Amino acid sequence: MLEGLVQHDHPLTLQHILDRMRRLYGDSEVVTLTDAGKERAVYAEVCERIDRLCRALESLGVGPGDRVATFAWNSQRHLEVYLGVPCMGAVLHTLNIRLFEDQLTYIANHAEDKVMLVDDSLVPVIEKVAPTFETVEHWVVMGDGDAGSLRGAIRYEELIADQPAGYDYPELDDRAAAGLCYTSGTTGNPKGVLYSHRSNVLHALASCLADSIAISHSDRVMPVVPMFHANAWGLPHASTFVGADLVMPGRFLQPEPLARLIEEERVTVAAAVPTIWADLLRYADEQKPDLSSLRVVPCGGSAVPLELMKAWDERHGVTVLQAWGMTETSPVGSVARAPRGADGEEYWTYRSKAGRILPLVEARIVDDDGNEVAWDGESTGELEVRGPWIASDYYNDPSGREKFDRGWLRTGDIAAIDDHGYIRITDRAKDVIKSGGEWISSVELEGALMAHPDVLEAAVIAKPDERWQERPLACVVRAEGCDVSAEELREHLRSRVAKWWLPDEIAFIDEVPKTSVGKFDKKVLRKWLEEGTLQRQAVGAAES
Ligand code: ADP
Repeated sequence: MLEGLVQHDHPLTLQHILDRMRRLYGDSEVVTLTDAGKERAVYAEVCERIDRLCRALESLGVGPGDRVATFAWNSQRHLEVYLGVPCMGAVLHTLNIRLFEDQLTYIANHAEDKVMLVDDSLVPVIEKVAPTFETVEHWVVMGDGDAGSLRGAIRYEELIADQPAGYDYPELDDRAAAGLCYTSGTTGNPKGVLYSHRSNVLHALASCLADSIAISHSDRVMPVVPMFHANAWGLPHASTFVGADLVMPGRFLQPEPLARLIEEERVTVAAAVPTIWADLLRYADEQKPDLSSLRVVPCGGSAVPLELMKAWDERHGVTVLQAWGMTETSPVGSVARAPRGADGEEYWTYRSKAGRILPLVEARIVDDDGNEVAWDGESTGELEVRGPWIASDYYNDPSGREKFDRGWLRTGDIAAIDDHGYIRITDRAKDVIKSGGEWISSVELEGALMAHPDVLEAAVIAKPDERWQERPLACVVRAEGCDVSAEELREHLRSRVAKWWLPDEIAFIDEVPKTSVGKFDKKVLRKWLEEGTLQRQAVGAAES
């Protein structure tokens, strides 16, 4: 056999991205919306600040493998920490600012964070739990606002201003840890997902593929999805890799400032969960901001309603590009661009799937007995994936080991895969409704309900049933000023789903409770159901 390794065994580290930012894309820029207006810096300046940040962190005692945490909105400073910490050989841990206090305590202690960098606007949130963080030695406050009671707080700007220019980056193994992010986990404590340099770099490369998100140097990318939520879906890495500009919305996530940023900064790619795009669509319909620069909107985290995608396409010429992934998958595993030749309804069928599996990712679906299920687009089972940016274990937590099977990640999602490798998620294993031994997809019922113009949000949960074990209960939020009835909704569903799927109870609620990452929190709905606080209405009683 011929010796295979004739190319240089080049380490795939984030240092390469930093190097490109400095040498090739020095004039690309980062724009951040702050309380005082917009802050701008070109990449050359950002890199220079990153060098000084690395020196400063070293002077605070940060060494190889140490965890440096952030508690911050999307901003230029957060980007500096994002790249600097891994490139100096330490590990970036992005804390979710919306977690409950005891979860924050658990996570910071489990990760053994040494330094914590906090946005000034978030000091009031973190200072209450700060005394419970056992390993944090230094607090760094980003911004001029009050540092509250944070012990020995240092100002970010002062910290880096004191340092000489330049930094001698260490040689790193690309399998070394670069980042750490905790996911809520279905049971027990939050679970840490450790990303290597290699996985971040390959994931960024995949995001730039034409059939994926297709980030290029011409783009101005606005990650609305937080940098603490699965690496802002990898967008900071992908954008800096190819020298795209970044537009950071800071803490201004309402439709008005987002629309203004898109309009003024000529944003071409903006990514967020579906609710943000539903809000922005309503705002755009009323206020008519100029969104003509927007090309593509990567969207995921939960199923993206078809009507939402169609509305953006028809009214604004914007492709809301559905992607599927999890914190454990870095996060992007599949992206839903239609295959060549698909048009009409077939085109939309593809667009409304979770997407085609990305290059380098492998997928399979497995039934309850562990057998692989055919890729016929119909048969469903648990989705399992593996690949160079898919986790194969949790960080320092054997209690999550049942999620992994020799490199395969058991996603907990129920899915079908077609013969072109398009994944259709029908449910999360924990949300599926089992009625008379058959499965009812809560995701499909929700999609069908949200296709009704008078429905703002709909979440479907299982309610215990003596005869069928479980039946679907639809929790519906009406659009403002609308009073669609439960019977009308059942009629609307009739042509869209099988008869035995029709909910026999509907509860109208003011708002669907959301999790820390903005997803429907069905645990809360189930609790309301159990406590009897949901005002339920029976529907279609005459039929059954
Ligand atoms: P959490 O478990 O806290 O929601 P993640 O943010 O990692 O953590 O969520 C991953 C889950 O989000 C996936 O397992 C899947 O259930 C759901 N999800 C992500 N993208 C999609 C999508 N396009 N369609 C349906 N579900 C999705």
